[in-house]
Amino acid sequence: MKTYKLIDNPSRKLWDSLCMRPLLDHQNLKNLCREVFESVSIKKDVALLAYTEKFDQVKLSSIYLDEKELQKNAYQIDEPLKIAINQAYENISQFHIAQIPQAVKLETFPGVFCTQEFRAIEKVGLYIPGGSAPLFSTLLMLAIPAQIVGCKEVVLCTPVNRSGKIDAALCYAAQLCGIKQILKLGGVQAIAALSQGTERTSPVYKIFGPGNQYVVAAKQYAQEQGVAIDLPAGPSEVLVIADDSANPDFIAADLLSQAEHGPDSQVVLLVTNVDILEQVMLKLDEQLESLPRRNIVKLALSQSRFIVFDDLDTCIDFSNVYAPEHLILSIDKADSYLSSIQNAGSVFVGNYSPESAGDYASGTNHTLPTNGYAKSYSGVNIDAFLKKITFQKLTAKGIAKISPIVETMAKAEGLEAHALASRLRREFVENKGE
Ligand code: NAD
Repeated sequence: MKTYKLIDNPSRKLWDSLCMRPLLDHQNLKNLCREVFESVSIKKDVALLAYTEKFDQVKLSSIYLDEKELQKNAYQIDEPLKIAINQAYENISQFHIAQIPQAVKLETFPGVFCTQEFRAIEKVGLYIPGGSAPLFSTLLMLAIPAQIVGCKEVVLCTPVNRSGKIDAALCYAAQLCGIKQILKLGGVQAIAALSQGTERTSPVYKIFGPGNQYVVAAKQYAQEQGVAIDLPAGPSEVLVIADDSANPDFIAADLLSQAEHGPDSQVVLLVTNVDILEQVMLKLDEQLESLPRRNIVKLALSQSRFIVFDDLDTCIDFSNVYAPEHLILSIDKADSYLSSIQNAGSVFVGNYSPESAGDYASGTNHTLPTNGYAKSYSGVNIDAFLKKITFQKLTAKGIAKISPIVETMAKAEGLEAHALASRLRREFVENKGE
């Protein structure tokens, strides 16, 4: 049996260091982003093709996937996968349609009517990771909400495989979601193309999607240049809390399913009993050997953390400090702990709720904040594709009644023109005797 390092009841002083994620050098990443963005802004598609050759080792003649190629690729997926994708599409659509917010209409003060309405962001860019696996599931997670709210222009970027092709399932999912503009680009150059536009696509207003550290750094760089981004969704992570009721086979599979995302994935297991941990270790070794991506898994597991705490409350406290992207509660009466969960991207409740259900088909969105950002960010949801506009309409009675308040406050701030704009209308109404 392989032995993984066990951390026994770490004191709270050590928690911050135990919650750190492996990171690449930020300054180097930023320099790379600056170079790529500058080059793309000047040389456009020529630069995009050159960076694809450099970073993806693929020589393309065009960065655009045309309609014919999209259809031809999409037809190549087999029937069971098509049926599975269709059902996932239904479930994700249902859950996201249910999130559409209601407009707010209110008379806040006599004659003062305030409303809040929402509009779809007109131009959005979707990044679909494809470095080590073509994540067509991520396409569903991003394109479905964009389709539901009716974003007018959707530009999608995803890297090609070594033969310069885009995966068939990805093309099928793109067709299902009505995506027309697909760029064969990955990494920093993809984000530069979305934010600055290409020879055929215009710059987008907001960029969505997870990716590796290059993609995350490029999104942050784009944000500094004035383009909105959804959230920092980087290398994936899971934290599992297990008590005596947990099934070691299930937990081992959950940890491995996270670790197979990439060598930079983070896996954390918190237990209240060392026996369960030992059983999980055995199952990990058993299951690992049959996995095609076991080399990636082994690298990710070498960074994993296995921690024993005295009780479940301390496990939950630690989890709230770690703020995991995915939290799995393999514990008895898991529902009774939900109100204590303060920081997490998405939570999987009880022994029958694997993370993979949320990754593909339960209906929740799998684009989630990583690296502790679940403390302040939500995962992607319908709201992220909308912006809200407020309106106010004051009647004659409304301006007469509210103006003294506005005038008093404006004068107190020394903003006389503000006071004047309100007073002139009040006096006009009073003189007219309305
Ligand atoms: P990716 O599409 O994110 O990145 C691939 C691109 O990285 C390539 O196209 C290439 O241009 C660029 N790249 C690779 N090495 C480079 C280098 N040395 N210099 C410059 N550019 C380089 O695909 P991936 O690598 O498979 O990563 C996907 C990531 O997305 C994983 O880390 C996974 O955990 C994460 N993910 C996160 C979520 C979430 O919601 N947080 C969801 C799904 C996936």
